[in-house]
Amino acid sequence: MSQPYPPIQSWVVPHAAMSATLTAVVQEGQGVRESGALWLGRRADISRVSAIVFPRGKGVEATAGRWKVSSEVFGAVTRWAKPRELSLLGVVHTHLHGIPPRLSRADREYSVQVPGILAIVIGEGDEDRDHLKWGWYVYEHRDYRRLLDEELAQKFEINSKKEEDLCLRVANSDGVFELGRL
Ligand SMILES: [Zn+2]
Repeated sequence: MSQPYPPIQSWVVPHAAMSATLTAVVQEGQGVRESGALWLGRRADISRVSAIVFPRGKGVEATAGRWKVSSEVFGAVTRWAKPRELSLLGVVHTHLHGIPPRLSRADREYSVQVPGILAIVIGEGDEDRDHLKWGWYVYEHRDYRRLLDEELAQKFEINSKKEEDLCLRVANSDGVFELGRL
């Protein structure tokens, strides 16, 4: 029997995924509200991000102090992802200027609670392009634990190779759509 959540030792994120995430959260947040992205890929020992879904509109609460994706939106994303053999690997969201890039209590409560899932907080309202300054957390033993710097350096790799395909989509509580549809 296969385990429901195979353990993840490390993550590989294409450079294109990092830039696509940053571009989208900047555009969506406009410096006035939080925004975010869901990283998906095949869950494995080394998990690679191969798709990004940007939750938007219906079912998404985006204010200056909160970014909350409803369970309906997560459900829509899961239904889309499953036949593609994709799993949610990480939930990325921004904090505005002056708010430290740490998971708030609400972030912990609202976010997905699945072993091995990353929660990433981009600080300074996305002006901070240095990912080492972001808040990196992994869900284990029923809570999010902050990754230490050396752990992040060891377990997280940005791949600049061009050949990796990246699938970009938007989602609301009705479903997952091509970019530009929401
Ligand atoms: Zn937050």
